[in-house]
Amino acid sequence: SARIIDGVGHARRLRADLSTDIAEFLARTGVQPKLTVILVGTDAASRLYVANKARACRDVGMQSVTIELPASCTLPELLSVIDAANEDTTVHGILVQLPLPAHLPVRAVLERISVAKDVDGFHMYNVGGLVVGSTVFSPCTPFGVQKLLEAEQIPIAGQNVVVVGASNIVGKPTALMLMQKDATVCICHAKTRDLAQFTIAADILVVAAGRPNLILAPMVKTGAVVIDVGINRLPDGRIVGDVDFESVRLKASHITPVPGGVGPMTITMLLHNTLVAARASVDEAQGTKAPQ
Ligand code: NAD
Repeated sequence: SARIIDGVGHARRLRADLSTDIAEFLARTGVQPKLTVILVGTDAASRLYVANKARACRDVGMQSVTIELPASCTLPELLSVIDAANEDTTVHGILVQLPLPAHLPVRAVLERISVAKDVDGFHMYNVGGLVVGSTVFSPCTPFGVQKLLEAEQIPIAGQNVVVVGASNIVGKPTALMLMQKDATVCICHAKTRDLAQFTIAADILVVAAGRPNLILAPMVKTGAVVIDVGINRLPDGRIVGDVDFESVRLKASHITPVPGGVGPMTITMLLHNTLVAARASVDEAQGTKAPQ
């Protein structure tokens, strides 16, 4: 039976280290890292995510400001709020909570965020950084997946990685990041024919499709590492991932539970990126180059 990867424990350890680093940074520079989160509209799940991010910031000693805009907000109004945060030197990280109301063009909004403050890593420049292997900010969920693999001392180089899901926020960047670590990567998506023929070849299977029970035991190689990014709410209220946990755990060598696997790592990496942004801004103000 697989080792169950304890995302809560890994996240707790990383956040304790971050608290120490932030306190040391504040003592040395007088600067407290600050994240500005922009929330448009009243989507209940988005509100919960934003509240969780704000609390996580406070818990590690960062400042967090949430700017709430009505769902009716226009593109120029939203862009001017982003511009103000870009210009505010006390703000180190800026995040626009997705999804946006349908009338707002998501690319134009993300591209307005200063690259140096783009702690979600969704700006096209930061996406390009992933492609060429010169990363400024890695997107938080894929970064969390990579950190979990590293924390579990799972080798990546030379391994067959199959990523199920090809979204811009999870699937594609996960594939790029693990390819950068010298994995052999295959990306599957909703149009993939015979998903199982790909997943069965995976040494590391990362699943981010948003489909409960998409991955069943016969689709998984014996001894594979299974990372379940999916978060699905069933009609009975239970939260499950995309992997049939009870059957796949008998075949895998490692598996992440849902909840308690990748989820806690995502916000942790957001905190990490915000500290990196704060350090870089201080280095820039002092005219020194930030160590990468
Ligand atoms: P998305 O809907 O944007 O993308 C889903 C991807 O899965 C698409 O590429 C689609 O082609 C593919 N897909 C859908 N059905 C499939 C099928 N039957 N077979 C193969 N591929 C299929 O979703 P997303 O934003 O990438 O999120 C994916 C899942 O991860 C969701 O459940 C989401 O809630 C979860 N998520 C979790 C975290 C976290 O912190 N743990 C963060 C972001 C997203």
